Amino acid sequence: MTQTVERHEFQAEVKQLLDLLVHSLYSHKDIFLRELISNASDALDKLEFEGLTNPDLLPSEEFHIRLETEPNARILMVSDNGIGMRRDELVEQLGTIAHSGTSDFLEAIGKSKDQELSLDLIGQFGVGFYSSFMVANKVTVITRRAGEDTAHKWESTGEGAYTLEETERPSNGTTVILHLKPVDQENGIQDYTAEWVLKDIVRHHSDFVGYPIKMMTEREEAGAEGEPSQKITTDETVNSMKAIWSRPSEEVTDEEFNEFYKHITHDWSDPARRISVRMEGAVEARALLYIPSQAPFDLYHREMSYRGLQLYIKRVFIMDKCEDLMPQHLRFVKGVVDSEDLSLNVSREILQQDRKIAAIRKFLVKKVMEELGRFHRADSDGYEKFWLQFGPVVKEGLLGTEKREPILELMLCHTTRDEHEFTTVADYVARMPADQDAIYYLTGPATEVARQSPQLEVFLQKGHEVLLLTDRVDEIWLQNPPPYGDKQWKSVGRGSVELGSEEERKNAEEELQSKSADFKGLTALFQQLLNEDLKEVRMTNRLTTSPACLVGEEHDLPPQMVEVLRQAGQDVPKVKRILELNPHHSVLQKLLTRFQDDEHDSIVRDYAELIYGQALLAEGGQPSDAAAFSKKLADLMEKGL
Ligand code: ADP
Repeated sequence: MTQTVERHEFQAEVKQLLDLLVHSLYSHKDIFLRELISNASDALDKLEFEGLTNPDLLPSEEFHIRLETEPNARILMVSDNGIGMRRDELVEQLGTIAHSGTSDFLEAIGKSKDQELSLDLIGQFGVGFYSSFMVANKVTVITRRAGEDTAHKWESTGEGAYTLEETERPSNGTTVILHLKPVDQENGIQDYTAEWVLKDIVRHHSDFVGYPIKMMTEREEAGAEGEPSQKITTDETVNSMKAIWSRPSEEVTDEEFNEFYKHITHDWSDPARRISVRMEGAVEARALLYIPSQAPFDLYHREMSYRGLQLYIKRVFIMDKCEDLMPQHLRFVKGVVDSEDLSLNVSREILQQDRKIAAIRKFLVKKVMEELGRFHRADSDGYEKFWLQFGPVVKEGLLGTEKREPILELMLCHTTRDEHEFTTVADYVARMPADQDAIYYLTGPATEVARQSPQLEVFLQKGHEVLLLTDRVDEIWLQNPPPYGDKQWKSVGRGSVELGSEEERKNAEEELQSKSADFKGLTALFQQLLNEDLKEVRMTNRLTTSPACLVGEEHDLPPQMVEVLRQAGQDVPKVKRILELNPHHSVLQKLLTRFQDDEHDSIVRDYAELIYGQALLAEGGQPSDAAAFSKKLADLMEKGL
């Protein structure tokens, strides 16, 4: 055996994380043990699953996790006889963090002054193994992959680097050896060599782990009369091992359910909601699902780190992150599914086509949607918090093949009716005046921008409420929105305005035509000057206080949508907009007079660009030549003084 010791630097993100863990977090240190036990339990799950097809890999001893201590040396060891790690796996798993966006995320936490917030954030990130360094000065990992002969030793003091060398281990599995920091109650470090401390943490956080967590325990037994008492050592299993989802719900406490959630997700905060269901009939399954209270930081990253549910078949762990059990738009749902009716001999590829899996998924989606509805009715503040974090993801469901009405029912929307309160679509429709035949909405880059949009003016003046839909995904589903009952959706920023009774509409139309005739020469000049950006310049009755706004035709891609597609790498042709002018605005009336006096007046030309630039700004856009725009504006300001 080679005796070389290699030194490796941690990836920058790991250094950042370790630094935060050791220097910024003062509470909840006990959870390091839950993390190590969860890792051990995962490693046993993996070996149990591989053993289904390759029984030679299975260990001779029963699957277990063991806690051992050496109080004088201040050492705690957590071992398992699970899958173990190869050398390359060690480097990969215990030297790097693979989640994209980690660096920015950690930086944001580092800057946060709020301890509790940092804790929640870092917890949902899944600190796992690295949390050992909260309680240990040095951590040694000795591991041997099932099916391999060589074992490896990984060691680090958590200060930027770790060492690797070959070593021996009698059989497969992993031992994590913690060289504990001194007990420091004030900073949350207990004596993790004390039997009662360990038992207490296990009972609290890891009781339901499906493998025995063993520990040699000592107790005094009174001797027979006249004899001294004896120390009896027993190998004790300190957890109950009951699969929590197969126990009757009434018997399980909220705390136990929450701890189980933390065990499977590595989240440190309690979940927002829990769904415990049983599917009966042609396919039988049980599921215990959770809706987290915090959105994972990488919810919008393409390769989001943990998506999908854990799948068990007849209590045997089959796989983590089974994506086939939850659609994309519910990817934040966590939990476990256990079915009696699937073949143990499954692979990811087979699962995708399995009709029973499809049936389970359909059932679960229905249950999750129902639970979200209950959540909304029972706890509107909690639901609002949920929606702010996960709503944009739920709305992705409006793009796919899922049933769309239930998603519309769950939506919370900003509205012109109230600056602070959300509305549901149902409440909006209930408030619609009798002569309104569509759901009016406006999209925009942000609610505050949309709220100021000139496109809303006439709607607000006439007392119509408009929904403000400003998540990126809104632009996309509103390209082809599902009707809500018998109500269609209508953008106030596209097409023409038709409000009021038939008579009012007719009058408005006639007035507009006459104004258009008056302004014909001026609009033609605007068109000529701005031809590159505009496909039409026309008069409108959409505006009451602003001089101008930009709109699209009924089927034009809106500007935010163009932006979304461009960012997704698509080559989108330029979409020319329509500039609408307000004939009642004094700027336009004065401009018309000047134009009629002298068609070549340079002021009129400057105004054309200023008005267009201002309309762009009003919708949250930017003039393409901002410097030229700002110079024209400054010139004009000077003239005004
Ligand atoms: P997480 O468990 O959230 O993936 P960790 O940092 O705790 O993150 O662990 C990283 C990886 O290291 C695990 O995904 C696993 O592949 C590996 N690992 C950790 N502990 C063990 C163990 N006891 N046995 C085998 N592999 C382990």
